[in-house]
Amino acid sequence: MPVLPIRPWPHLPLAALPTPVQSLPRLGKALGLELWVKRDDLTGLAFGGNKTRKLAYLLAEALQQGADTVVTAGAAQSNHCRQTAAAAAQWGLHAILVLAGEPQDPADAGGNLTLDALFGAEVIWTTWAERDQRLRQTVEDLRAQGRRPYLIPYGGSNALGARAYAEALAELLDQLSPWPEVIILASSSGGTQAGLVAGARLLGYQGTIIGISVDQPADVLAARVAALANDALAHMGREDIHVAATDIHVEDQYAQPGYGVFTQAEAEAIAMAARLEGLLVDPVYTGRGLAGLIGLARRGRLPGRRVLFWHTGGTPALFARAYQADVVRRTRDDAPST
Ligand SMILES: *Cc1c(COP(=O)(O)O)cnc(C)c1O
Repeated sequence: MPVLPIRPWPHLPLAALPTPVQSLPRLGKALGLELWVKRDDLTGLAFGGNKTRKLAYLLAEALQQGADTVVTAGAAQSNHCRQTAAAAAQWGLHAILVLAGEPQDPADAGGNLTLDALFGAEVIWTTWAERDQRLRQTVEDLRAQGRRPYLIPYGGSNALGARAYAEALAELLDQLSPWPEVIILASSSGGTQAGLVAGARLLGYQGTIIGISVDQPADVLAARVAALANDALAHMGREDIHVAATDIHVEDQYAQPGYGVFTQAEAEAIAMAARLEGLLVDPVYTGRGLAGLIGLARRGRLPGRRVLFWHTGGTPALFARAYQADVVRRTRDDAPST
């Protein structure tokens, strides 16, 4: 087993690991490649997702510091915030979520926002422009009140959160032989891709790790992923390994409509995964990530390759009021023929 060659770090048993690795023969055949999926939508915490692995490390640090409240931020349908709320509930912590966008009633917003309410999280609404300032202010106010807040960065992406995905790569490489030549995932705050890249360096994995950008231009995201990978490596005591932004593969073609804008590309990816494999991907992240994989295959970039799609979760957004009707409408006319 390719155990990560570093000392283990304290983390909570939040995730049901290892998550399954499955073959996707019908979707792979339609795309002319050998396709696998790593099911991190099945991490076991409140409908799963990639944030579970990060939160296992982040919440262990929060508890070790004696925190009574965790504070984080995201969009109304943030999977990261939903999983943070669930993990906080499980460990007896209060969760405050700073959400950007129009205030919505959790009773009819559906999806992640409804789940946040079930976990008892407190929601503070703000604008995208004021979000970071509001997050800092919330933490300062709590301190002034004598509370003990622990700030979880956007997407759980810092050195500690990214480290979880170095561990996850070791888990994958133990499950699949031969190893995939290409790993493709939806990438946004960059911690997941950064952890995989850091893990690849530590484990000698030579395959290509491609992040399909959900919102950022390729150069911006590649720089962030490299910085986070270096932070994670330093955290693991390996400052001697350096990752450059030019080592990071990011495709940003599908990010152009903007964050959370549901287009025909995501609709087609949702329809193909659902109808060929009985697999659910979401309208914001994994639908876009899989659309990126489909686009690369169609442009002849993955011929006959052994490709792994890293499923990062997000499926509750399928049931969000903002997406549900549009998902059904747009996928109805997009049934693949195979
Ligand atoms: C957060 C998220 C991502 C992106 O992960 P990052 O580490 O922020 O890049 C991808 N997919 C889903 C479903 C997510 O919730």
